Amino acid sequence: MDVFEAIGNGGHEQVLFARDEASGLRAIIAVHSTVLGPALGGTRFHAYATEADAIADALRLSGAMTRKNAAAGLDFGGGKGVIMGDPRAIKSERLLRAYGRAVESLGGAFITAEDVGTTLADMETIARETAFVGGTGRDAGGCGDPSPATARGLVAAMRGTARHLWRSPELEGRHAVVLGTGKVGGELCRLLAAEGARLTIADVDAEVVEGLAAELGAEVVAPAEAHAVDCDFLAPCALGGALNAATVPELRCAAVVGSANNQLADDALADALAERGVLYVPDFIVNAGGVINIAEAVGRPYRAERAERRVDGIEGIVLELLERARAEGVTPLAGAIARARGRIDAIGGLHARAPRRRAGV
Ligand code: NAD
Repeated sequence: MDVFEAIGNGGHEQVLFARDEASGLRAIIAVHSTVLGPALGGTRFHAYATEADAIADALRLSGAMTRKNAAAGLDFGGGKGVIMGDPRAIKSERLLRAYGRAVESLGGAFITAEDVGTTLADMETIARETAFVGGTGRDAGGCGDPSPATARGLVAAMRGTARHLWRSPELEGRHAVVLGTGKVGGELCRLLAAEGARLTIADVDAEVVEGLAAELGAEVVAPAEAHAVDCDFLAPCALGGALNAATVPELRCAAVVGSANNQLADDALADALAERGVLYVPDFIVNAGGVINIAEAVGRPYRAERAERRVDGIEGIVLELLERARAEGVTPLAGAIARARGRIDAIGGLHARAPRRRAGV
C-alpha cells in the first residue's frame, strides 16, 4: 500500500502512527477533516490481518465520520483511531494510556470515544492521559454508553420515514424486522415494543434472540432470512454489508432504517434499491444518535435532556432529507452526501484562516 497516495486520495489532513514497545501498542489515528471543528470519532480495537488493512480501515472510517458529523449539523470534523491487535489478548492500562498520550499529542485536533473493541472503562483510562475523550461515564462528566442514544435516534429516523411514506409519525402497528439484537438492536426492539410496533428479530446469538423474543413477544427468524421478510422497516443492526447483490433483489420492506455502519456493500446499490421501490435511509444519517450524544459531552457539562432533544431531531433531518431527495429526483444517499458537503462548504470557510481548536473536553 502506498500510504501517502491513500491519504492524498482520501483528502485526509494528517495520519498519526503511534507505537509503545513495552505494551505492544500499535495505533493509527486518521484525522480526515477539522474544517467544521475537531475531528470526532471512535477508537476501534481490532485484530487486523495486515497493517495495510488497519490503515485502510482508519482512512475509510475517518472519512465516514466527516460525513456523519457534518450531516448531523455538529461542529465537528471526522477522525478515527485504530488500535491493532486482539483486545482480549493485549489490552492493558499501559497500552490504553500510551494511546491516550498519542491522542493528547494531536493537541485537540482529534477527540475520541468508544467503538468496536473499546469500552467506557477504556475511555476513562485513556482520559488519564488526555482531556480529548468524549465517551466517558456519567459520573466522570461524560455521556455514558452511546448505544441507547443510537437506538433512540433510530426510532426518530423511523418516525421521520413514516411521515414521509405514510404522512404520520405513528409506529404503532408497524412491522419492524431487526437484524442484530445487540446493544443498539436490543434497545431498539424495546423502544419499538413500547410504541406498539410488531417485531420480528434475528441474531446469530440464539440465546440473546430467544430471551428478547420471550420478553417482548417478538417473532424470531433465521439471520439469513430476515432481509426477505415482508415488513415496513428492515433495521440492519449487526455488521456492515447487509445490503448486497444477493439480498437487495429479495427485500420486501418499505424502508431500510438501521444502525449498522456501511450497510451498502457498494454505494451503487442505492440506485438498485430505489428501482425496487425500497426507501434506503442512509446509515450515517440514521445512526448519528450516538455521536450527537457524545458531542453534547464535549466542551460543556453533559445534559441528558438536551442530548435527547438533539437526538430526537434526527426525525426532522430524515424527513427533510427524504422530501428533498424526492423533489430533486435523487436517491436519499446522494441527498445525504450533498447535505454533508453543503454544510462543510457553507460553514467551513469561517474557519479557513484559523482552524478551530478546543482547549479541552
Ligand atoms: P453489538 O456487538 O452489541 O451487537 C451486534 C449484534 O449483532 C450482536 O448481538 C451479534 O450477535 C449480532 N450479529 C453479528 N453478526 C450477525 C449476523 N451475521 N447476523 C445476525 N446478527 C449478527 O454492536 P452494537 O453496538 O449494537 O452495534 C451494532 C451496529 O451498529 C454495528 O455495525 C455498529 O458499528 C453500528 N453502530 C453502533 C453505534 C453504537 O452506539 N453502539 C453507533 C453507530 C453505529
